[in-house]
Amino acid sequence: MSEFAPKDTCGAINQMIILKSPEEIKKMGESNAIVAEVLTGLKERVRPGVTTLELNEYAEAVTQKKGAKPAFKGYGGFPFALCSSVNSEVVHGFPSDRPLEEGDIVSLDYGVCYGGYYGDSAITVAVGRISASAVRLMKLTEESLYRGIEKAKKGNRLGDISFAVQSCVENAGFSVVRDYVGHGIGSDLHEDPPVPNFGMSGRGVKLRAGMVIAIEPMVNEGSYKVRTKSDGWTVVTDDGGLSAHFEHTIAVTEDGPVILSSRRA
Ligand code: MG
Ligand code: MG
Repeated sequence: MSEFAPKDTCGAINQMIILKSPEEIKKMGESNAIVAEVLTGLKERVRPGVTTLELNEYAEAVTQKKGAKPAFKGYGGFPFALCSSVNSEVVHGFPSDRPLEEGDIVSLDYGVCYGGYYGDSAITVAVGRISASAVRLMKLTEESLYRGIEKAKKGNRLGDISFAVQSCVENAGFSVVRDYVGHGIGSDLHEDPPVPNFGMSGRGVKLRAGMVIAIEPMVNEGSYKVRTKSDGWTVVTDDGGLSAHFEHTIAVTEDGPVILSSRRA
């Protein structure tokens, strides 16, 4: 789940970044492993005819079996465990009883709380055969996430991550959503700092070992402009173009970035 972009995305003013101990990072690895397992299972279940409500039920059942809690259900009043955003939906889409159709792309954003710590990750999945342009959008969005993660090193600045994501996206002719951003994560789902997918390298807070952040590029094939539907949650592209979303929770460590939500399967 992404956070509203704050007015000042670069400033360290008024930010409260909570560093995590190696023990806490290990615990966050456990929550994120559950998220990764759920997303792997969801990906296997995506096909024409399946509804996102069925995917929501699957995610909740696995989470419950693991003794974890779905992180998004009830968060700010969000009514479901899973955020499922189809085609021109960007983020925070409601699962529905509309069957997925061949050619759709669906972004699945999932989070849990386990042992007091949150995990958060997202993938975009193809429903059957999809267009070449949709394939390109999905690949590029995932690639931009990894370009950002590479910069999540002690001593770098937050803007180095933002710039890496933005330049990867824009050099390919796509645009990054500005109104929603990644975030710090820990014993709260959304902690400081906000992690925008756009910005200038060398700016923003200095990255320190123990910082845990969710990097989550939301990439549109057309304009970066988005709007919220009348349900108060579902964010859609303003021009009706496709959008993709990939997210990992990562820890900045002495030995570089560690992807806590990595899907090992
Ligand atoms: Mg998320
Ligand atoms: Mg998130």
